[in-house]
Amino acid sequence: MTETFDAIIIGAGQAGPPLAGRLTAAGMKVALIERKLFGGTCVNTGCMPTKTLIASAYAAHLARRGAEYGVDVEGPIKVDMKRVKARADTVSTNARTNLEKWLNGLDGLTIIEGHARFEGRDVVRVGERLLKAPRIFINVGGRASVPDMPGVDTVDYLTNTSILRLDTLPRHLVVVGGSYIGLEFAQMYRRFGAEVTVVEKGPRLIAREDEDVSEAVRNILTDEGIMVRTNATCIGFKPHPNGVAVDIDCTSGEPFAVGSHVLLAVGRRPNTDDLGLDTVGIMVDARGYIGVDDSLATNVHGIWALGDCNGRGAFTHTSYNDYEIVAANLLDGKSRRVSDRIPAYALYIDPPLGRVGMSEAEAARMGRDLLVSKRPMTRVGRAIEKGETKGFMKIVADAETKQILGAAILGLNGDEALHGILDMMNAKAAYPVLQWAVPIHPTVSELIPTVLGDLKPFN
Ligand SMILES: Cc1cc2nc3c(=O)[nH]c(=O)nc-3n(C[C@H](O)[C@H](O)[C@H](O)COP(=O)(O)OP(=O)(O)OC[C@H]3O[C@@H](n4cnc5c(N)ncnc54)[C@H](O)[C@@H]3O)c2cc1C
Repeated sequence: MTETFDAIIIGAGQAGPPLAGRLTAAGMKVALIERKLFGGTCVNTGCMPTKTLIASAYAAHLARRGAEYGVDVEGPIKVDMKRVKARADTVSTNARTNLEKWLNGLDGLTIIEGHARFEGRDVVRVGERLLKAPRIFINVGGRASVPDMPGVDTVDYLTNTSILRLDTLPRHLVVVGGSYIGLEFAQMYRRFGAEVTVVEKGPRLIAREDEDVSEAVRNILTDEGIMVRTNATCIGFKPHPNGVAVDIDCTSGEPFAVGSHVLLAVGRRPNTDDLGLDTVGIMVDARGYIGVDDSLATNVHGIWALGDCNGRGAFTHTSYNDYEIVAANLLDGKSRRVSDRIPAYALYIDPPLGRVGMSEAEAARMGRDLLVSKRPMTRVGRAIEKGETKGFMKIVADAETKQILGAAILGLNGDEALHGILDMMNAKAAYPVLQWAVPIHPTVSELIPTVLGDLKPFN
C-alpha cells in the first residue's frame, strides 16, 4: 500500500531537517528519509569533526611555541590520538543526537531510515515502502570521489570519512589533492606529529584562488615542515613494504613518496547516481549534479534539489541557505533566488583564509576599472600581539561604483573578520560607508577601513 504525504524529503543533511521543521509547522504531513547518519556530511564526516580536530592540532602547535610567549612546557609535546579522536567523536555524536531528538519531537513528521529511490514523479521507494507526495525535496549531498588513478585499487587509501576512524598517528601521511579538504588534513596531521607530503597535479595549491594566496598558503605549510609537490603529473599508487608508494612526477624531483597512509582528497561527487532520477526525467549535468533554476526547482514540476547535490554550493551555509530560499518561496510568498547569494567560504588551515566574492583575477577578467588594496598581517596590531603574523588582507573594488567585488583575509581570525566585508556587500553599500565605521581596537577587523583607505587603481 502506498503511504501518502504532503511532502517527502530525501536526505537529512543541512537543508532537509530545517525544511522538515518549517513544513510540519505549516501543518503538512512530511516524510524525511535518511540512509545513513542524521546531520549528513557536515555533522558526521565534514565540518564538525574536522574543525574539532583542527582545534586539537592548534593546541599542540601553540604548546610547541610556548617558549616564544614566555611559557615553558616541560619535555616534548605529546599528542594522544585516542583522546583527540574521542573529542571529535563526542562533538559529532552530540550534534547528531540533538538533531535526532529534535526531529523525533516534530508533529506531523515520519522519519524513515533507508535508501530512497524514485519510482515515479511523485513516488519514492524505501525498501518495501512506497511513499507518495506532490512535493519532493532532494537533499542527498555528496561523497569523496575516488578517481581512476593508476593502481588506486591495489592500495589501502583513506578518504575524509575513513581518516576520521584513525586513532593512531600515521608515520607519513601522503595527501593527494592540494585543495581545501586536503590542506586542512595536511596541516592538522603535521601538527599532530606526522610527516606529511601534499601531492597536487596542478602547478599550485588551491588553484581557484589568486596566485599570491596560493603562494602564501604554500609558505605557511612548508614553514611547518610539510612537503608540497605540485605539478605531479604522474600520480599513481603501488603497495610498498613501508605502506604505499605514491608516484608523483615522471620528469623532475623525487619520483615518488612512500607514505604509511594515503589520503585521497581530490574532490567530491553528488549522491545522485543511485536515486532513480532517470526514471523521472530529472536532468543532471555531466558530473551528476541536479539541474535547478534560480528557485532550486528541478525540470520536473514538484521536485526541488537543495544543498551540495545541485552544484550551486558546496558548503553547509549554502545548503542551509537553499532551505531558506525554498521555505521562503513556498511558505512566505517570497521570491528568493539563489543567484542573489554572495559566494563566501573559508579554508580552515591556521591561520585561516576567509574569502568572499571575486578573486582579483576573476575581477580583472570583467574588464572594468578596479581598485585593489593589500596589507600584510605583519602590519596588524592584533596579529603582532598574538604572535600570528602570517598572511595578508586584500580587497578588490569597482572604481566606478565603489562596490566591493571581493576580498581575501588570509590571517589570524580571517574567517570571522571577513564578515564585515560580506555584510557590506550584501547590503550593497559602497566601500566609503565602511570607512566611517569605528571598529574595536585591537582586532583584525579594525584594519578593514584602513585597507579600504589604501585602495589604488589596479594595473
Ligand atoms: C572534510 C570536510 C570538511 C568540510 N568542512 C566544511 C566547513 O568547514 N564549512 C562548510 O561550510 N562546509 C564544509 N564542508 C562541506 C559540508 O559538509 C557540505 O557542504 C554540507 O554537509 C552539505 O550539506 P547537504 O545537506 O547538501 O548534504 P549532506 O550533508 O551530505 O547530507 C546529505 C544526506 O543525504 C543522505 N542521502 C544520500 N542519498 C540518499 C538516499 N538515496 N536516500 C536517503 N538518504 C540519502 C546522506 O546519507 C546524507 O546524510 C566540509 C566537507 C568535508 C567533506
